[in-house]
Amino acid sequence: MDPQDIRLLIQRRLQSGRLPHGRTERIWGGAGDGQMCDGCGTIITTGNMAMQGRASKGGGRPIQFHLPCFQIWDDVRRVA
Ligand SMILES: [Zn+2]
Repeated sequence: MDPQDIRLLIQRRLQSGRLPHGRTERIWGGAGDGQMCDGCGTIITTGNMAMQGRASKGGGRPIQFHLPCFQIWDDVRRVA
């Protein structure tokens, strides 16, 4: 997926509240295991790095991203 498309998708998800604006309390990286990326909405396969965390606001629900999607989310939420 085009990084520009992912950025737009993440902006929309931030606006609709599907993604938290706050910082993540804890973030850790690991191998993907087929979970859904909260950024681009596609599966994080075992060959990919997955970033997982828990937002400090918004009920502390867990979020997970591909590494590039995490970086885009982190960038977009700072600007927003
Ligand atoms: Zn992704």
